[in-house]
Amino acid sequence: MKIGVLALQGDFEEHINMLRRVGVEAVEIRLASQLEAINGLIIPGGESTTIGKLSVEFGLMEPLRSFGHQKAIWGTCAGAIFLSKDARRTQPLLGLMDITVARNAFGRQVDSFEVDLLIPALDTVASSSRPYHAVFIRAPLIETVQGEAKVLSQLEDGRIVAAQQGRWLATSFHPELTSDERFHRYFVEMAK
Ligand code: GLN
Repeated sequence: MKIGVLALQGDFEEHINMLRRVGVEAVEIRLASQLEAINGLIIPGGESTTIGKLSVEFGLMEPLRSFGHQKAIWGTCAGAIFLSKDARRTQPLLGLMDITVARNAFGRQVDSFEVDLLIPALDTVASSSRPYHAVFIRAPLIETVQGEAKVLSQLEDGRIVAAQQGRWLATSFHPELTSDERFHRYFVEMAK
């Protein structure tokens, strides 16, 4: 099992470290040819416009899309925006996941916050059920989940912050910035 992390911009190193902690081989991905060797890909948080522009520049858009049609992709924060079909403004998107996202949806005062979430899906990779402590940094909101996409977690007021569509996963928050390994384990299972 080898998982790649798109390493154009953003906090890819934290994902690499977390993957190694859960015991899988982790590699930084910058070239289309490197996609052949991995079972799943994480697109990290950062700036979705930058990740998009660099992906266009490096000829990664089509290779990433065809990778996604065969294997697992998980986008965290900016990565979730990049994975979506619609971010309600013009920027390069992979357009794979049937979700609409709103960038920087939590406004200035609460640019960053942390909250405990209920994520029942994570019970499949843990021995006991407990809340998931999630870190949000200038986070997007998943406004709508359509078609085959399913809601994985919501804030108490119902706003969606995690979704899954087959082998694609999108989280508004940053599991790589906590010590909780459950989300990475969940993704590794998805990628098998
Ligand atoms: N605000 C960033 C964007 O819109 C995402 C922030 C993040 O990834 N932490 O792309």
